[in-house]
Amino acid sequence: MTIEHIETAIIGAGQAGLATAYHLQRRGRSCLILDGNEHVGDNWRAQWDSLRLYTPAGYDSLPGLPFPGPRWSYPTKDQVADYLAAYAKRFELPVRTLARVDRLQAIDGKYLLRLGADSIITENVVVATGTFGRTPSIPDFALDLDPSIRQLHSSEYRNPAQLKPGSVLVVGASHSGTDIAFEVASTRPTVLAGRDPGQVPVRLDHWSARVVFPAIGFLAKHVLTRRTPIGRKAVAGVRFHGLPMLRVKRSDLQARGVDRILGRVTGARDGRPVVDGVGALDVSNVVWCTGFRQVFDWIDMPIFGADGWPQEMRGVVPKAPGLFFCGLAFQYAAASTVLPGVGRDAAYVAEQIKARVGTSVALAA
Ligand SMILES: Cc1cc2nc3c(=O)[nH]c(=O)nc-3n(C[C@H](O)[C@H](O)[C@H](O)COP(=O)(O)OP(=O)(O)OC[C@H]3O[C@@H](n4cnc5c(N)ncnc54)[C@H](O)[C@@H]3O)c2cc1C
Repeated sequence: MTIEHIETAIIGAGQAGLATAYHLQRRGRSCLILDGNEHVGDNWRAQWDSLRLYTPAGYDSLPGLPFPGPRWSYPTKDQVADYLAAYAKRFELPVRTLARVDRLQAIDGKYLLRLGADSIITENVVVATGTFGRTPSIPDFALDLDPSIRQLHSSEYRNPAQLKPGSVLVVGASHSGTDIAFEVASTRPTVLAGRDPGQVPVRLDHWSARVVFPAIGFLAKHVLTRRTPIGRKAVAGVRFHGLPMLRVKRSDLQARGVDRILGRVTGARDGRPVVDGVGALDVSNVVWCTGFRQVFDWIDMPIFGADGWPQEMRGVVPKAPGLFFCGLAFQYAAASTVLPGVGRDAAYVAEQIKARVGTSVALAA
C-alpha cells in the first residue's frame, strides 16, 4: 500500500482531463492524471466501428495542438483516440493509466483518493470522468424482455454482425440512435422508436455546413451559456435529453426503410418490448440508445443536488474548495462537453487552481 502526496489530481485522461493538465502545465503547476483505462483514448476506440465525429476536424483541436486532417473532414473514432494519445505525448502530460479511483473523500482540508489498496492525498482534485465515466442508462423493464432477445446499449454496439438474425428495435432517436438505426437497417428490418429530437438542417458533408457550422459553434459557445437566460433555459435539455440528429436525416431513415415510431418504449409484455401507441413488438434484438446516467457514488461528499449533479459553477464547487469538475454537460456552455468547447472550461479551472495554490503559498509564507 502506498500513500502519495501531490498538488493536483485529475481523474480522467479524456479531452477534459488532458486539456486541464495542459493549462496547469502552462501555469507552472504540477498535476497527475489518473485513468482507469489501459491507454489514453481507449474509450473512443471502444465506440462503434463506423463512428465519425459530428464536428469537423477544424473545430476539434485541444489547446496547443491542431487536430490533424483537412478542416472539413470528420475524424473517425480511432483518429480521435490517436489524437488524444498524441496530445498527451506531445506535452508530456503525466498520465497514469490502469489507475481507477474507487473513492474520493475530503480529509483535513485536502482530498483522499483511493485506488484499490493505494491512496493519494492532494490539495486539488479535478473530476474529468466525462461521458464514458457515466453509466449506460437502460430502463429497468429491459430485465423483463425475453432472454432470446439480444440486448445491447449503444456503448456496447460495434457493428451489425453483433446482432441476431431477424429484426431490431433501436430505442432513442438522438444522433447515436439514428446513426445506428441507419446502419443496421442495411442488414435487417429495423424499427427506430422515440421522440423526434429535430435535425440540423444541413448535411455535414455539404458546402452549406461550412456556413451553418460556425454559427452553431458560436451559439453553443457564446450564446447558450449559464450566463444568459436562454442558456440557463437550455441546461436541462442538454443534460437530460437527446440532441438533434446531425449526420443521418429523417429522409435517409425513410429511404432505408426504417420503421420510424415516435412513441416511447414503455415496458415489456410477454417478454416483448411495448411501444406507446403501437403495442408489443416481435423483435430479435434491441439496441438501447438511451444515453448515460451521471453516477458519482464514488465521490463521498455532500456536493450533489437532488438531480444527482454536482453543485458547481464553471466546474468550481463552492462547498468543497479545491474540488473541481471539467467536461460536465453544460458546465459553462452547451459546448462544454465537446471538443470545440472544453478547452475554455479547462483553462478556467486551471486558473482557479493557480489562484488557490498562490493563496495557500502566500498564507504559508
Ligand atoms: C457516441 C458519441 C459521439 C460523440 N461525438 C462527438 C463529436 O462529434 N464531437 C465532439 O466534440 N464531441 C463528441 N462527443 C462528446 C464528447 O466529446 C465525448 O463524450 C468526450 O469523450 C468527452 O470527453 P471527456 O474528457 O469529458 O470524457 P471522456 O472522454 O469520457 O473521458 C473520461 C475518462 O475518465 C476515465 N474515468 C472515468 N471514471 C474514472 C475513475 N473513477 N477513475 C479513473 N478514471 C476514470 C475514463 O476511463 C475516461 O478515459 C461524443 C460522445 C459520444 C458518446
